[in-house]
Formats: sequence, C-alpha cells, structure tokens
Amino acid sequence: MWLNQLFGVSPFGTLAHGKSDAKATQPIHFDRQIVYPKPDGKLTFDRASSVYLSGTNHEEDQPVHLRLADPEIPIKYNLPVYGEPARLYCPAGVYEVVYADEDKKTDPRFVINAQNCVHCKTCDIKDPAQNITWVPPEGGGGPNYQDM
Ligand code: SF4
Repeated sequence: MWLNQLFGVSPFGTLAHGKSDAKATQPIHFDRQIVYPKPDGKLTFDRASSVYLSGTNHEEDQPVHLRLADPEIPIKYNLPVYGEPARLYCPAGVYEVVYADEDKKTDPRFVINAQNCVHCKTCDIKDPAQNITWVPPEGGGGPNYQDM
C-alpha cells in the first residue's frame, strides 16, 4: 500500500479481482452451507451481543436509511437464486426473511430492522442486484463504540 502511495506502483503488484463484489456473489448451494461453531462468549460472540456492544442507536421514527430500489427483488429474485444473502452477510442481523408458516416456508416477507445497522455498508456493496442503498441516517445515529 505504501509503495503504491509513494511511487504509484508496487513491485509486489496488486490482487486483481476482475469484477465487483456484487457480481462475485455466487448462487446459493445448499450443500455448501458453512456451519460455524457456537460463540463461546469469550473470544466469539453472537450477533445480538455484538450489536449491543457497538452501542448502536437510531432515533425512532426517522426515515429509513437502507433503501430498496425495488422492494420486490429480495423475495422474487434474491431469495430463490442466492438464498437472500443480506440475511447472511449483514453483521448486525438487520435483514430477515420471515415466513407466514416457518416450517412450510410459505409467504416469505423481507424485513429490515434498520435500527440495528452498524453502518458497515456491506449490503450496499454486496447485494447481487445492487438494489440496496445505504444513506447516512438522520440525527447522527449509528454505532458508538465507547471504549475504542
Ligand atoms: S450497512 Fe452493514 S450493518 Fe447496516 S444493514 Fe448493511 S450490512 Fe447490515
């Protein structure tokens, strides 16, 4: 990084990616699901306690700061093709797919819990349909890491 910064070129080269992170999202393969060990509460933590530690807070009733260009895409396109990846990659569990009948997986609905957003912008970058836009929330809300 410093060689690039100072001289505009690095003898080590750079890692070529070739396509955007959104285009690199792969269709879901149910046989390749990663199973992580349960958090131990010492070195690894579940999402809810991690969001709690981030001190995230947004004023109630503010305009939603996670905008969908097309609200149909998460369920009609992203869910069948990608398993709706926003519910998987979002570190704060902001996105959920909820079903009228959880066992039969009927009538899916896309839910956005914007108050938990820790402003990492992954959804804006990674959504395969480029359907999500993160905008700064009103009132300076968001994570507030007290001890950093
Ligand atoms: S910006 Fe990050 S934390 Fe917020 S909704 Fe998107 S992925 Fe989740």
